[in-house]
Amino acid sequence: SVVVVGSVNLDAVTVCDRFPQPGETVTGVSVAFGQGGKGANQARSAARSGAATAFVGAVGDDDAARTVLDSLAGARVDVSRVARVPGSTGFANVTVDGSGENHIVVVPGANGAVRVDDAARAAIGAADVLLLQLEIPLPAVLDAARAAREAGTVVLLNPSPVRSLPDELIALLDGVIVNRDEEKALAEVVRRVPHVVTTLGGDGARATGPDGTVDTPGFAVDVVDTTGAGDAFAGALAAHWDLSPAERLRRANAAGALTATAPGAAAAPTAAEVDAFLTT
Ligand code: ADP
Repeated sequence: SVVVVGSVNLDAVTVCDRFPQPGETVTGVSVAFGQGGKGANQARSAARSGAATAFVGAVGDDDAARTVLDSLAGARVDVSRVARVPGSTGFANVTVDGSGENHIVVVPGANGAVRVDDAARAAIGAADVLLLQLEIPLPAVLDAARAAREAGTVVLLNPSPVRSLPDELIALLDGVIVNRDEEKALAEVVRRVPHVVTTLGGDGARATGPDGTVDTPGFAVDVVDTTGAGDAFAGALAAHWDLSPAERLRRANAAGALTATAPGAAAAPTAAEVDAFLTT
């Protein structure tokens, strides 16, 4: 089983022909709401990959809270340890223009109030894998990693958005999941962590661990929107951590590639969809 301690947002994506200038109003073409936040996206992917998955995070006391929790619960993510705090649920306001450029405003809201309480600690201790990102306060990330280490739960970190990491956290990590930019920015960290999984966009992924390095080539797919592909990859990798390094890398890579074929950040495939994709 997997526990994700991280962020959840309501995403609103509006599409317009051209961006408004300051003070200007333009008429948009479409609007869509979805669940986002790296934590929630990765939890959704882990659950859809077949792992019993719990999400630990925080939502506000607004209507958006219901929307994101229902969406996660619909993907069979256990949301019973999500806190409700005063103020707004995390929110990402995305505007896309006719050429595919985007403008994004992210309001962290309740994500800034994520804490690891006793119930969360117990859930982490009972899980096989803890999956973390950096969209919540660092003390919560550290508390979660400490609880996992104490219980022998594997600790995986997707260090995004990238920032410098304290030595104590680095020492608690069993693995990191990084894209090319994160790998470069955190070269010092990457050297000190037992398992390093690097996503290479359309070129697939590479995993280096105590038993050596395995590469998995990219899948040629019709790319629609790569938003969330990295999150789908991370969730699937955590869900399949019990498989061999080559096999979990292959499945995570398939989950990432399939996510790139659908719009939106929360498009992670199910295990059955990955099975079907890998046998065709
Ligand atoms: P991020 O989106 O986090 O920067 P990457 O661009 O490395 O990370 O993509 C993460 C994963 O998503 C890749 O390892 C791959 O599985 C999948 N992916 C991303 N872009 C493509 C693509 N163009 N074609 C096929 N798979 C892709």
